[in-house]
Amino acid sequence: MDKLTHFGFESVTAPEKVGRVMGVFSSVAEKYDLMNDVMSAGLHRLWKKRMVGLANVSPHSMVLDVAAGSGDISLGMLKKTARQCRVVLTDLNGPMLQEGARRMLDHGILAGTADCVQSDGTKLPFADNSFDVVTIAFGIRNFLDIEAGLAEFYRVLKPGGQFVCLEFSKPALPLLDVVYDAYSFHVIPEMGAFFAGDKASYQYLVESIRRFPDQRRFLKLIEWAGFDLARYENMSGGIVALHRGYKL
Ligand code: SAM
Repeated sequence: MDKLTHFGFESVTAPEKVGRVMGVFSSVAEKYDLMNDVMSAGLHRLWKKRMVGLANVSPHSMVLDVAAGSGDISLGMLKKTARQCRVVLTDLNGPMLQEGARRMLDHGILAGTADCVQSDGTKLPFADNSFDVVTIAFGIRNFLDIEAGLAEFYRVLKPGGQFVCLEFSKPALPLLDVVYDAYSFHVIPEMGAFFAGDKASYQYLVESIRRFPDQRRFLKLIEWAGFDLARYENMSGGIVALHRGYKL
């Protein structure tokens, strides 16, 4: 019998999980940016700004933005370096990556400066030691195999390179978890229904957040993948955490 994994709170087979995760992102791709602003009341912009601010990116950097989606982090990196760095956006989902490619063109950023490559984050089509910075924002939670993803990020980083990950995490302030739970389970799926015409995808979103390892457990996974000087900081009371590490 096939080994089971999880899709939100459901138990499913591995191929079913990948198919359903892709279904979620194909369904929400066009409304993805709008929904981020609505659900987080714009806070995701501040979280991403902090992430870009902490990334060791310079005009000469090669950056890999895994699960890049509509490209917020890639754009942030390019802005930070006055469009001098090079960014590869990679995502498993075609419609999401198309949103990223469209955004780059809307900003007048051409191939060679930003390139889009459709790929699974656990099987990256890049040589060892290729990138100075590897980023992933709100993506790894959706992976079938988180450890395999982290091992790939480590493999493609150059020695001295930095890994930066932004992900939902576990609220660390008293009472915040109660309020956040109520908001997540009762409000977000209804917003998904209203703004994106898709309640089920946003139900998956909140369930996948609950299933993801908390700050400390995720830090351990990053260390086990080989990263040095790994650490994290909470944002918005731990609703989101920013983890970093180096390949030394
Ligand atoms: N990084 C963008 C951001 O912060 O706005 C997009 C994040 S979006 C919530 C998650 C992205 O992860 C989606 O674009 C989805 O297609 C992608 N994704 C899910 N599983 C993936 C995998 N195994 N490999 C690569 N990308 C994946």
